[in-house]
Amino acid sequence: MSSFDEMDAFEGASLSARAMAARPAPYLDELNPAQRDAVERLDGPVLMLAGAGTGKTKALTARIAHLLSTARARPNEILSVTFTNKAAREMKDRVGRLLGQPAEGMPWLGTFHSICVKLLRRHAELAGLKSNFTILDTDDQLRLLKQLIQAANIDDKRWPARMLAGIIDDWKNRALTPDKVPAADAVAYNNKGIELYAQYQVRLRELNAVDFGDLLLHMVTIFQTHQDVLEQYQRWFRYILVDEYQDTNVAQYLWLRLLAGAHKNICCVGDDDQSIYGWRGAEVGNILRFEKDFPGAYVVRLEQNYRSTPHILAAASNVIRGNENRLGKELWTDAQEGEKVRLIGHWDGEEEARWIGEEIDAMQGGTRGARPFNLDEIAILVRASHQMRAFEDRFLTIGLPYKVIGGPRFYERMEIRDAMAYFRLVVSPGDDLAFERIVNTPKRGLGDKAQQTIQMKARERGVSLVEGARIAVDNGLIKGKGGKALRELIDGLARWNAMTRGPRIEIDDDSVIDDGTAPMRFGEPEVSHIELAQIILDESGYTAHWQNEKTPEAPGRLENLKELVNQLDNFENLQGFLEHVSLVMDNERDPDGAKVSIMTLHAAKGLEFPAVFLPGWEDGLFPSQRSMDEHPRKGEEEERRLAYVGITRAEEVCTISWADSRVIFGRREHQYRSRFVDELKGGFGVETGKHFEDLTAPSLHSGYASNKLETRAAEANVYNSPGWKRMQARQGQYGTSQPRESRNTVIDATAVASFTLGERVFHQKFGYGAVVGIEGDKVEVDFEKAGTKKVVSRFLSAKDDIPF
Ligand code: ATP
Ligand code: MG
Repeated sequence: MSSFDEMDAFEGASLSARAMAARPAPYLDELNPAQRDAVERLDGPVLMLAGAGTGKTKALTARIAHLLSTARARPNEILSVTFTNKAAREMKDRVGRLLGQPAEGMPWLGTFHSICVKLLRRHAELAGLKSNFTILDTDDQLRLLKQLIQAANIDDKRWPARMLAGIIDDWKNRALTPDKVPAADAVAYNNKGIELYAQYQVRLRELNAVDFGDLLLHMVTIFQTHQDVLEQYQRWFRYILVDEYQDTNVAQYLWLRLLAGAHKNICCVGDDDQSIYGWRGAEVGNILRFEKDFPGAYVVRLEQNYRSTPHILAAASNVIRGNENRLGKELWTDAQEGEKVRLIGHWDGEEEARWIGEEIDAMQGGTRGARPFNLDEIAILVRASHQMRAFEDRFLTIGLPYKVIGGPRFYERMEIRDAMAYFRLVVSPGDDLAFERIVNTPKRGLGDKAQQTIQMKARERGVSLVEGARIAVDNGLIKGKGGKALRELIDGLARWNAMTRGPRIEIDDDSVIDDGTAPMRFGEPEVSHIELAQIILDESGYTAHWQNEKTPEAPGRLENLKELVNQLDNFENLQGFLEHVSLVMDNERDPDGAKVSIMTLHAAKGLEFPAVFLPGWEDGLFPSQRSMDEHPRKGEEEERRLAYVGITRAEEVCTISWADSRVIFGRREHQYRSRFVDELKGGFGVETGKHFEDLTAPSLHSGYASNKLETRAAEANVYNSPGWKRMQARQGQYGTSQPRESRNTVIDATAVASFTLGERVFHQKFGYGAVVGIEGDKVEVDFEKAGTKKVVSRFLSAKDDIPF
């Protein structure tokens, strides 16, 4: 089915090579001699192994332009691999700009996966598939594995399907078909891994399906076993170019080596210091053995960095110096010195987000930094995606436009929208849109027919859908499991709604005549809105819905739900929170306007921004604990490379920050400044901002495990944050260490003043009570159990801060 005439015909080249050849080559003038060398040496293997920002991608792009404009190759004869779709699009744009016409006719410029899908469709039959095979997503993949695991009588609680998926993926990254998995791996997955892998591949074929790993694995296998097919492509792809070569895995490497095996016109560019995908099977060794695989390779070393200021470069090299396993490269720049890299500590994650928001505002207005910055020029790069929420929320509150690269914004995520729909419905039972969203989420067995019945009843009586549903259930119109579940939902909504208020207050003052026109008065609700939110999510079955879902995304969704509940702490009640969200979500008036970019460090590879913020440099978060636990030494080195990637994204301004405490997955955790900050401190190119004294203090990594909460809090002066108060109270409950009184030297005046007469408060020793008098920092409280007492205000918690 695959003849090259066909391929030629339907790939159609829109760039006429002859027309190109006639043009001058302005793109060469923009290059330095070393880059130009790499671009003009079109034949034979070329390796560009050079540090960040030295123009590797620029040279690679110029090389494509050069191949085309010298008519060495037609656009469809160039195989050009990048790491992300975004990078592929950018490269197409850049080639187009260099040539002065759109580079549409470059069908083989893309990611490994996108190119392999095309190839595999042409040769599906050689892999036992039909050309219309489907590509399974992770959910489908796990479901399939689960079936096989159950059929093999393996307890998938002890041996989760996700674990097997990870093992198989790893084998596929190493280009190992089931028959090639080494004997040493036979113990994998309770000695059943290889067998299940073989069965899984058979099932996939029966289903005419592949998973992501198969795209490359099948193509490598086809090339290895069908010499004729391989030779066709070796002839066809006359020139091969690869960006970010340091992050290729074994399967990708073999695939490239096979394709380049005949003509060896392959140009790879990369930087061993930027290898950050080891956890996905990338082998930095691939780039280091290039010269062995392609003897006589022309190696270009680029040392001039065109992206960053000397200060930023110095900071980056100070960090990466901590790694032992590296080639070691020197970078230089003739850019202006610019600002030093700033190291700044904050007392908690919220404060960090607030501070960065203010900085960005000031930078935009031109009151901070050497020049005004456009929002498009600013990026925030985080280690873990859960860090994004604090920024999103802050920016929404202050109306600072932002975009999240590589994922939806927090409030646009499915689980957040679902949860918000529940909250809306509890606060306003007439919210029909919210009802439609959640009536069958989680699944309650309410199909289209049941939902139509509800709609019909609501319309007939002119009532809300919730009311319509009640009528339908009362009249037995929806039967069975669905009817029962619907009844539970309606009852739940009514119950939760009642919990938003306290008991009705009876007015027994004779002077007030209750003529029925006075608004009803209610006391304080018995449970806080934060508790209520958790109750709604739990009792509705929504939390369990994600707990039972064993997909790789599910834990992240549960984390997001916890973040959502955390956040309620900043509002008085659910209503206030919902108003806040609807207002801030509405503030995106200018979809095309400039925005701050927020993304993970991994997603930032290859990109550059004039100003970069790197928040959350805390041990455990960055370097990530998980990564270090999995591979103690290698993990730390990979995290350090990630730090290097982060710093080297910055052109002019780079700000690194950390927080002394942070709410992570619903719990306030005390954090240690990252070891990477310590590696930077005192080094050339950096300066310290707030909490400067922290940096000159003895190392925080040792010596006070028993007393660390206290010490950290004292340093950070977080006593007055609600989170600290809560933690203090919680510790009191469990009888662990309390901060000594003498440490608590700073009393936040606003905290004192914030108690009001009549307010319900909580005291460690005396329990609940109401404020009856305030005198300086002493408060008189009428305690429910202990009677009226004067107590020092800092031992009181406002009701919203009461631990549960
Ligand atoms: P990374 O390792 O981060 O992927 P890189 O080596 O691919 O970096 P590029 O993105 O190609 O670097 O280039 C970095 C910046 O330097 C770009 O803005 C690019 O336009 C500019 N640049 C590269 N080479 C030159 C040059 N010879 N003259 C002027 N600017 C250059
Ligand atoms: Mg690059």
